[in-house]
Amino acid sequence: MKPIKISNRNIMFTQPMTDEYDLNLGLILGDRHNFIIDTGLGSGSVAPILDYIGDCTKPIIVINTHSHWDHVWGNWVFDENLIISHQKCHELLDKYWELPLEKYSHYIDGEAHKCLPNQIFEGILGFPDDGIILFHTPGHTDDGISILDTVDKVLYAGDNIGDTDDEIVPKLTDLEAFRGTIAAYKKLDFEICISGHNKPQNKSVLARIEAEGNLD
Ligand SMILES: [Zn+2]
Repeated sequence: MKPIKISNRNIMFTQPMTDEYDLNLGLILGDRHNFIIDTGLGSGSVAPILDYIGDCTKPIIVINTHSHWDHVWGNWVFDENLIISHQKCHELLDKYWELPLEKYSHYIDGEAHKCLPNQIFEGILGFPDDGIILFHTPGHTDDGISILDTVDKVLYAGDNIGDTDDEIVPKLTDLEAFRGTIAAYKKLDFEICISGHNKPQNKSVLARIEAEGNLD
């Protein structure tokens, strides 16, 4: 898993996941905190991020973009840190942690144990000193959130971008909500969009999703 520098303070960590797509985790080196976006398939997924952070003593804040198993299995490594998600994500993880862990156990990287987010929110949550905003972006799932780095203009969209170039429209649970999320993304000032499985995109990805998903 190689760190890929996306901007001055944004680093993407990518590991192979299936024949079709990879898995991406993010790191934002904020002024006050280091933000880790998603925790992947277990302790093995987050180890390269901890290596990268090294001796830096800034507190780590973990963010779960949504409750799907491939984004949360490394949470337990950070059980002493803040782990933030949408309130619905906490609910879903509490109910449905065990089932996917059994079903997809062959994907575990290192160790995976149940560990729920310990700070939840519903609409928007900001870290002004770091220039970071978290906000609810349903569509792929009801519990999805996105993260905007307002300093480097990088958006983390979770799985609201499709997994591959051929499937740029993601799997959706709520089309109407997704329309709203894409409309909200369009209003944001960002240059690069990182998602859970696809390559980094620029803002034109939104127009492609609208066209291919017949959203406009
Ligand atoms: Zn997902």
